[in-house]
Amino acid sequence: MRAEVIAIGDELTSGERLDTNSRWLSQRLVENGIPVLYHSTVGDDSAACKEVIERAIARAEIVLLTGGLGPTADDLTRDAIAVATGTSLQIDESMLVEIEAMFRRRGRDMPERNRVQAMFPTGSRPIPNRHGTAPGIEMRVLRGDETASHLFALPGVPAEMKPMWQETVLARLNEIAPQSGVIRHRQLKCFGVGESQLEAMLPDLIRRGREPSVGITVHAATITLRVTARGRDAAECEAQMAPTIATIRACLGTLVFGEDDDELHHATARLLQQSQQTVATVECASGGLVAEWYSEIDEEGVFFRGGEVRPRSDFARGESLAAASLAEFVEQLASEIRERRGADFGLAIGPLPEVDTATAAEADKVDEEAASRERFYYALADRDGCQVYHGRALAHPAIRKELAGKQALDRLRRRLLGEPSAEA
Ligand code: AMP
Ligand code: MG
Repeated sequence: MRAEVIAIGDELTSGERLDTNSRWLSQRLVENGIPVLYHSTVGDDSAACKEVIERAIARAEIVLLTGGLGPTADDLTRDAIAVATGTSLQIDESMLVEIEAMFRRRGRDMPERNRVQAMFPTGSRPIPNRHGTAPGIEMRVLRGDETASHLFALPGVPAEMKPMWQETVLARLNEIAPQSGVIRHRQLKCFGVGESQLEAMLPDLIRRGREPSVGITVHAATITLRVTARGRDAAECEAQMAPTIATIRACLGTLVFGEDDDELHHATARLLQQSQQTVATVECASGGLVAEWYSEIDEEGVFFRGGEVRPRSDFARGESLAAASLAEFVEQLASEIRERRGADFGLAIGPLPEVDTATAAEADKVDEEAASRERFYYALADRDGCQVYHGRALAHPAIRKELAGKQALDRLRRRLLGEPSAEA
C-alpha cells in the first residue's frame, strides 16, 4: 500500500497559503504504517484536478485529497473525482437532510448552492462532517488491472479535516490495509559541527535501505538525526531503534544535546535546573532571541534571571570607550549582568560584524579567510571569572541571529556539563 496526498486550491499554488494539510496527513499515514510516495498540489482548475486525480489513482492504492469541497464555483473536487473516475454526480437525499439540519441548528436556511454538497459520485459514500457543512467522500476505484485504489476527499479547513481523519478515515484505512504495522521515529539533536563532519563521525548508518533507517537534516546549524523503524507495534519499533540510538550517542558524545523537540534552550534549561543555577543575558547579535526562548519556558524566572537587548551602537561608542576593545566590553557586560541580576552565569553576546549580504548569502563558497573575518564575540561569566569567545557569524542572513544565540547557549551547555572554560 502506497499513498498519495493531493492538496487542491489556488491559494496553495499561488503561494498565499502554506499547504499544512499534506504535512499533517502524511505524518498520520506514516505513523500508521502507510508510506507516502507522492504529494501533489493543484490549483482550482477542472482539467488539472482531473489529471492529478487520475494519475494518483493509477500509482497509489490510497489517495487522500483535501480542499475544494465547499459550495462555491471554485470548489471543483467533487466534479473532478466524478470525471476522473468516469462516474456522474448524484444527490444523496439523506445527506441533503443532514446539511439542511446543520443550517437549521445554526439558525439559518440552507442556501440553494449548498445543495451541491449533497452530491456524490456514483458508487462513492459520504463521510460525515460534524464540524462543517461539507461531507467528505470515500470511493473505491477499480483500476484496469482489477486492483483498487481507495480515495478519500476531505475538507480543506484543518479543523474539519482532522476530526474527519480521526473519526472515520483512520478506521477505514485499518480495514483496507490491516496489520500494515506502525512506523516510529526518534530524533537526536546535535550542535557544534557541520553536517558532513558529523556524518563522518558515525559508522555507515545513513545509507539507504538500512533498518532502522537514519536520516540527517540541518536547520540553522542544529543537526537532526532521525531514526525510523517499522514494526508490528510501537514497542517493537522502540526495541529496534535502541541499539542505533546507543551507537549514535557513543560516537557523538556531547554533540548530542537532546531528543525530538528539544532545542538548545531546553537542554540548558534542564541542566540549570538540575544544578539549581541561574543565568542572565545581554544580547546584541541574537537580538533577544535567547531571552525569548527562555522566557517562553520559564515565565516565573526559576533559572532565567532576565535579559537585555543592546543596540549595535552601544558597542561602537559610548560605553565601549571605557573598555580597551570590543572583546573586553562584551566580557564586562557578561560579568556586569551576572552581578546585577544575582545570577550564577552571565551570558553576553556582542554585535555581528556589519552584514555583507553578498558574502553571507554565498556562505558555502567562502574561503577560510573570509570566515575568520566573520566573527563576533560572546562571553560567559561565572563565579570564577569571565571568558570571552569567538563566535562564527558567517551564515545566511536569515539564520544569523539564531546561530549567534545557539553558539552562546551551546557554550553555556558545555560549561554546565563540566567542560573547562578555555577559549575555543
Ligand atoms: P476549501 O475546502 O478548498 O474551500 O478550503 C477551505 C479553507 O481551508 C481554505 O481557505 C484554506 O484556508 C484552508 N485550506 C485548504 N487547503 C488547505 C491546505 N492544504 N493546508 C492548509 N489549509 C488549507
Ligand atoms: Mg478551495
